[in-house]
Amino acid sequence: MKIAILSRNEKLYSTRRFREAGELRGHEVDIIDTLHCYMDITRSRPVVRYRGTDLPKYDAVIPRIGASITFYGTAVVRQFEMMGSFCVNESVAISRSRDKLRSLQLLSRKDIGLPRTGFANRPDNIKDLIKNVGGAPVVIKLLEGTQGIGVVKADTNKAAESIIEAFMGLKANILVQEFIEEAGGSDIRCFVVGNKVVAAMKRQGAEGEFRSNLHRGGSATLFKLSKEERATAINAAKIMGLNVCGVDILQSNHGPVVMEVNSSPGLEGIEVATNKDVAGLIYEFIETNASPNRTKTKGKG
Ligand code: ADP
Repeated sequence: MKIAILSRNEKLYSTRRFREAGELRGHEVDIIDTLHCYMDITRSRPVVRYRGTDLPKYDAVIPRIGASITFYGTAVVRQFEMMGSFCVNESVAISRSRDKLRSLQLLSRKDIGLPRTGFANRPDNIKDLIKNVGGAPVVIKLLEGTQGIGVVKADTNKAAESIIEAFMGLKANILVQEFIEEAGGSDIRCFVVGNKVVAAMKRQGAEGEFRSNLHRGGSATLFKLSKEERATAINAAKIMGLNVCGVDILQSNHGPVVMEVNSSPGLEGIEVATNKDVAGLIYEFIETNASPNRTKTKGKG
């Protein structure tokens, strides 16, 4: 097959692995820099222009859209959908997953376990906002944060009030969430492909750190999911409409709760921790599912 990987950097581990695994399976793989794509959207036959020429019609597209380029990146994915290429994750699903509030609202509507969460822009009753999620300790999150930056734990209601006031002073959108103490500074990353969890790892934060992000010195090991955890991850992916995603779960004393669903999950952490060929499994999914115009919204979303 002719496959495009949309990525800003061909040197990244995930991008390199996608090229390597695709070529190993006999595919023709092009790495396309998302921000260098441009298009004349008024042409009756949709095309994507790249470095002065029309890109060919790809059988499949693997979008790796970083959080900082969601807006332009999803427009490029949409253009490929309009051309009839099978996009592993659709543009609408990627946009949906990038909006934390929208994601949590969608998951909650379908009864997926979530940490008790409140969100606010300019609450006139901060005490009530904190009380609403069960009181301190709570976690306060900047909506725009990634890699654990902008995630703060407040041990007392007073500290929570001050932090919320400070964030509000900066006009930031925030989430206030029940702190899942029993997770013990760890979380579970479930890597979903199609309707299966193909690999799972437990990430443990560094000593004295409640955030388990690998970028913050956390470590990862292979993890065997319970039936309930597996079902939660698969359902969350389905609700978000993502074929390939990372579902992050905390083990709470009221069952598994979903923290986040990531539409461009990294391959390095999961492949190293589990010793699985996750890139190869994604190609297996593409080989079974990619046929022209199989993308559900065909760019209409
Ligand atoms: P980011 O998207 O920036 O990584 P997360 O929401 O995933 O932010 O939070 C970073 C880390 O903080 C998580 O991996 C988890 O270990 C920890 N964490 C986040 N929310 C909670 C919570 N409600 N209770 C306990 N730990 C949490």
